[in-house]
Amino acid sequence: MKKINPNFNTLNKDNLLNYFLGKLSFRFFKLNISHYLPLLLTLFLFHSCTSTMTDTFPNYTGNDLGLTYSPEQSTFKVWSPTADFMTLHIHNANDGDIDENLIPESTHPMEKDENGVFVVTLEGDLEGQFYTFQIQKDGKMLAPVPDPYAIATGVNGHRAMVVDLKKTNPIGWENDQKPPLKNPTDIIIYELHVRDLSSHPNSNIQNSGLFLGLTETGTKSADGHATGIDHIKELGATHIHLLPVYDFSPNSIDEKNPTERFNWGYDPQNYNVPEGAYSSNPYDGRVRIKEFKQMVKTLHDNDLRVIMDVVYNHTGETEKSNFNQLMPDYYYRKNEDGSFSNASGCGNETASEQFMVRKFMVESLTYWAKEYHIDGFRVDLMGIHDIETMNIISEELHKIDPTIFIYGEGWTAGDSPLPLEKRAVKAHGKQLKNIAVFSDDLRDGLKGSVFNHEEKGFVSGKKGMEESIKFGVVASTDHPQVDYKAVNYSDTSWSSSPSQTISYVSCHDNHTLFDRLQISNKKDDETTRLKMHRLANSIVLTSQGVPFLHAGTELARTKQGVENSYQHPDSINQIDWSRKTDYYDHFKYYQKLVDLRKAHPAFRMPTTKMIQKHLRFFENLPEGVVAYQISDYANGDTWKNIIVIYNGNPETVNLNLANGKWQIQWLGEKSNMTKRISSTDGHNIKVEEISCYILFQN
Ligand code: CA
Repeated sequence: MKKINPNFNTLNKDNLLNYFLGKLSFRFFKLNISHYLPLLLTLFLFHSCTSTMTDTFPNYTGNDLGLTYSPEQSTFKVWSPTADFMTLHIHNANDGDIDENLIPESTHPMEKDENGVFVVTLEGDLEGQFYTFQIQKDGKMLAPVPDPYAIATGVNGHRAMVVDLKKTNPIGWENDQKPPLKNPTDIIIYELHVRDLSSHPNSNIQNSGLFLGLTETGTKSADGHATGIDHIKELGATHIHLLPVYDFSPNSIDEKNPTERFNWGYDPQNYNVPEGAYSSNPYDGRVRIKEFKQMVKTLHDNDLRVIMDVVYNHTGETEKSNFNQLMPDYYYRKNEDGSFSNASGCGNETASEQFMVRKFMVESLTYWAKEYHIDGFRVDLMGIHDIETMNIISEELHKIDPTIFIYGEGWTAGDSPLPLEKRAVKAHGKQLKNIAVFSDDLRDGLKGSVFNHEEKGFVSGKKGMEESIKFGVVASTDHPQVDYKAVNYSDTSWSSSPSQTISYVSCHDNHTLFDRLQISNKKDDETTRLKMHRLANSIVLTSQGVPFLHAGTELARTKQGVENSYQHPDSINQIDWSRKTDYYDHFKYYQKLVDLRKAHPAFRMPTTKMIQKHLRFFENLPEGVVAYQISDYANGDTWKNIIVIYNGNPETVNLNLANGKWQIQWLGEKSNMTKRISSTDGHNIKVEEISCYILFQN
């Protein structure tokens, strides 16, 4: 490996000094650089006294930040206009504990370009070597860290790694085919933590807790029921949404002891690197990349698309983050008093409105889409980001693949210096282009507020929630029959299209639906609570919009009453496959519900106009009942007319809705779950307590 001389056409004071330092590093390559630190520090200090700070930063528009690798040479570029110096350290060891193992194998001062980018090119094949960057600013050396654009790291993510991405592709990767997708409303999301699927021994998945656990087919529980991805296929979901799979902080999971603790992983460290704890070898950065791709390939081969949960709104560390060690303060918003603002509730919030932050987000997301064939992104606390950034992201991702699905949490976890009118929050849903937002209106309308555990919702006995349910049925769009003033949270529509609403009742946050109903409905028996459970997701899966299921809800998943289980052990978080035996009827009901949605395009209309034209709510119904008819939808639907009835009451209701005979589509073996009739007179429909009825005419 040899350092290429700086470009003398733009020779200036910085270049001269860097060149001199470069000679030093080249000459003393493989020697202990600490011997030369006093000399280097003197030079740095001399330099810093003569440099000036500017408060407007030059932006870099090139697309080559980070490492550009070839077997002949590697070029490293890092943007940091306020740094006086930047040095590249090359390490042979992958160990992440920077304090123990600080001394690099070699060090290479970088040349500062006019646009604030530091650059260095090293000749030779560096594949398998590790590297960090270290800046000196205002006379201070900051910590050596990987740059934000690092695509591979060693264990625990403290050192970036030079990799040849071509060598990380699994067999058949170039022929990887995404399962077909016509409209976003055809999507059925299954929200899963990598580890939860396979950490219970009764999953019988060998690669327990790993990306490779999602490549195992043919796995069965002791009772012979399909587990793992076979189970998800059996349920019929179309997309697996994975909780954080980028590299998150060792404070959450030590990659050297990956099973010692559990964590959801909402504390990003290296955005463009897969998490090491989910790989079979976290020390070699190539392994996690290959295994991640293998997971995507297998899921695609099994008709499942893959969504990543992305958390660009904050970093796990603040002062010590890679962002802040390389370009202090730039990437974050600040309060007037100079402290870090905290709309994430995690100690900091990023500043998407800043040119280079926005650029990073766009490039990071497009990198995952292109390199890993990711099919969708769930944006954590999207309300922290500005609308313009989100729309640019949407545009750039959809240039790569128009079927990529983007959705986010349309709120923040605290106040932000970003003016409200700029925030990508739910109320601004109509300004977001091809981006969906979670409907907390429907979620809490169904079961009660997530902030008030005892509160009931439509399915669990609360009266007056009908308009919130209707709002969910039309996917938060404009519909002449919804009384928006009576909706629980929103007083107006916020989606311009049904594909902009995520319909759900539960997710990884808060209690599982099973546990929640146990808290809010203590006096009801389990049979009754399971009816509520099924009614809730019957509404989710028959509503227009994009349905979203928390993994395991079809098995009446419990976290033993734990609400925020982000760092609870596997025993709380894991999917217990014995519940597939214990709650088999419940599972079959969910499966048929998914089948129903997939078989009938009328439940997934792609436009607001279609919903306005074909979907009509019945009026003057008893309290606790919502019913509507979808008429003459066609578009491939074999049913001419459909009536959907939700009865949230604990007793049977008699409804007089329509003329003629109607067939009843039962969802469960025993459905609801007692008796079985096959047709009814539209003037005399008996709808049992806490149930969903689907009637149709061919
Ligand atoms: Ca990690």
